[in-house]
Amino acid sequence: MIFTHEHEELRRSLRRFIDNEINPFVDEWEAAEIFPAHDLFRKLGKLGFLGLTKPVDYGGSGLDWSYAMVMAEALGHIHCGAVPMAIGLQTDMATPALARFGSDEVKREFLAPSIAGDYVACLGVSEVGGGSDVAAIRTTARKDGGDYVIEGGKMWTTSGTQADWMCLLANTSEGAAHRNKTLICLPMRTPGITVAKKIRKIGMMASDTAQIYLDNVRVPQRFRIGEEGLGFTYQMQQFQEERLWAGAGTLMGCDRIINATIEYTRERKVFGRPLLDNQVIHFRLAELKSEVEALRSLVYRACEDYLAGIDVTMLASMAKLKAGRLRREVSDACLQYWGGAGYLWDSPVARSYRDGRLGSIGGGADEVMLQIISKLMGTLPRLGNR
Ligand SMILES: Cc1cc2nc3c(=O)[nH]c(=O)nc-3n(C[C@H](O)[C@H](O)[C@H](O)COP(=O)(O)OP(=O)(O)OC[C@H]3O[C@@H](n4cnc5c(N)ncnc54)[C@H](O)[C@@H]3O)c2cc1C
Repeated sequence: MIFTHEHEELRRSLRRFIDNEINPFVDEWEAAEIFPAHDLFRKLGKLGFLGLTKPVDYGGSGLDWSYAMVMAEALGHIHCGAVPMAIGLQTDMATPALARFGSDEVKREFLAPSIAGDYVACLGVSEVGGGSDVAAIRTTARKDGGDYVIEGGKMWTTSGTQADWMCLLANTSEGAAHRNKTLICLPMRTPGITVAKKIRKIGMMASDTAQIYLDNVRVPQRFRIGEEGLGFTYQMQQFQEERLWAGAGTLMGCDRIINATIEYTRERKVFGRPLLDNQVIHFRLAELKSEVEALRSLVYRACEDYLAGIDVTMLASMAKLKAGRLRREVSDACLQYWGGAGYLWDSPVARSYRDGRLGSIGGGADEVMLQIISKLMGTLPRLGNR
């Protein structure tokens, strides 16, 4: 991957922004179990960070996806997982399909303010009865006059208590599960939408995760993204960027924890010498660093292929799989070398341990990635139930 001066400048300016506007407040936001998404996104939007790859006509910068990758990686400098996750959700999870397939009208209404940071977006795919199996979602959007009337509910909605709109996946017909779904922009202040609860979690504390009820919610059909019935396909494409983003977003967080562990074990003396001088420790850290660099190469290669228009389903799934596992491995191994200090709630390594656990579950669990990779390898048995 060849990075230009512009890539490096993006890295530097994001780091400056994080040092001034994010990291000083992370502990407070983690304790409050929410961060001020509107405040922060307005600042990010003003500097153009929320629309790097989005069309210029809607306030974006029209850059290629390598800039999104650099941003995802640079956000690893944030001292928690929750804030980068919410930013990534806005830029690379809830808006790619809208930017690609939305009408001009719907892009002006939802995309432009999301790029500006005036709107916070959320993604409504998962439900109580359908997470890994996206085709099994039950929420429906029935046509009535010029409207859709939506019934159902969404689970695990990141930024769900603060969001202005949701990129909603709903069933719009009875047909085959992969061809009966539609993506719809759903304004979150519409009557019939209730935030049923803010979900308490073991990590990603500063992220507000919500369960949402949708009861007789009426929105105009013109809020549909692209064609009716293609929502599942659009969402699968949208997942590519989400998965590449997850791969890139893991790298610097791992580097950060390894570096913090080097510092800690260099200072901490046990049996009269720095912990780091034990071969078992510096060898393990060297091994983990090698794994991070291997993942970095995979992510950069996937990005290059993506830019060249090559289908990256396999590489993106591999990157997501390895990222989830590596973050857990790095956090767990490093926590061990911090001893009791690593077991403290507020230690950086404990936060990484808690936040990083989501990587193997959210946005497609490890097993779902293995299923996709197996399918592309031609080794997945055909079940024939769909
Ligand atoms: C903090 C958090 C934030 C989230 N944010 C969002 C969001 O903003 N929007 C959204 O739509 N969703 C969001 N999600 C949902 C997330 O994407 C799902 O949790 C994930 O897809 C897994 O679905 P599930 O939890 O229903 O697990 P299930 O589908 O019930 O699966 C449980 C476990 O079964 C195993 N499994 C699954 N399939 C297979 C298989 N084929 N073979 C073997 N084992 C298998 C996996 O280990 C998996 O973890 C979020 C989740 C969390 C926890």
